[in-house]
Amino acid sequence: MSILQFNGPQLGQKIRMVLQTLPSDHVILVAESNADTSALSGILADAVHVQKGMGKVNCVGAHQYLTDEERRRTLFLVDCDGEDNQELLAKDALIISENRDLESDMFFRLRSFEEILVRQFAQKDGSLSLFRTAARECHSFVLELATRVGLIRDIANRLGLQTRLEDMCTGKRRKVSVRDLKDIDTYCSSLQTPAFETILSEFRNLLTWTDGDVISVRNSSAANSVKKCRIHNESDCLACKGRRFANGHELVDLGARVLAFKRHGGEGPPAPNFREFEHLLRASVTSDACADWQTVTRIRRFETWGGFTILRTPGALQQNLQSY
Ligand SMILES: [Zn+2]
Repeated sequence: MSILQFNGPQLGQKIRMVLQTLPSDHVILVAESNADTSALSGILADAVHVQKGMGKVNCVGAHQYLTDEERRRTLFLVDCDGEDNQELLAKDALIISENRDLESDMFFRLRSFEEILVRQFAQKDGSLSLFRTAARECHSFVLELATRVGLIRDIANRLGLQTRLEDMCTGKRRKVSVRDLKDIDTYCSSLQTPAFETILSEFRNLLTWTDGDVISVRNSSAANSVKKCRIHNESDCLACKGRRFANGHELVDLGARVLAFKRHGGEGPPAPNFREFEHLLRASVTSDACADWQTVTRIRRFETWGGFTILRTPGALQQNLQSY
């Protein structure tokens, strides 16, 4: 069966078959992608079987397909994707990430990035408060750039414009990303976020948008900027826009790049690459931070409702994460 043919009911049937083979006290966690399951891999209890869901639409379709009893043993975890998910939020056994996706949850909510930077910078003698200031500066840059790129891509998607291009290395088609910006290294070393118009112009060339397409994206963004956010009652609120538009994978990518430049020429070990940086993020998660993570709070609620254990206990959780 190809991925394209895989749909909600088929995923539901597969889950049903797996449930029948599992011991009665075991549960299935269905997440959208490998990145989502790996973001959670360190905190799941042993009796949890992980199933990749092939996207949000299939996950929601499979959730509808299953019976109430089957849903008690199947937890679906889907990405927010910056959409209005009010209807989905009300459903049992279906959890939506607090930020745009699970990776960005890990990056933002748990504030791990700043902690990693402080530890990396603090290899040399110096004031900790200075490192904290530098770390906050890096954090703001990463958030702002990922948000700006995510916003343009989201608007283009909504307008039905081309947002995919052929990857120069793999030859496969993928979404346009922060790494396609030609001066990405300069931005990451100087912590200067390129202007909205600069990113728009680069994407226009890469994706062969017309003048009319560019005007549509610009107008839609301007209309979005004047709206006030619900939480802070501010227009153009970076915190809320970041939650909605910043893609977790790009946040991690930018975080690793910034760290590489900050470490360049410094003493101590070399900067971690993308995968090592991802592991560092997970290792920075404390059980206290997890308790404050809405995604985890929602999983705990499901545990109470369904009567099954999904997450390790806080003590075991901390120990497991430290082993990364
Ligand atoms: Zn806000």
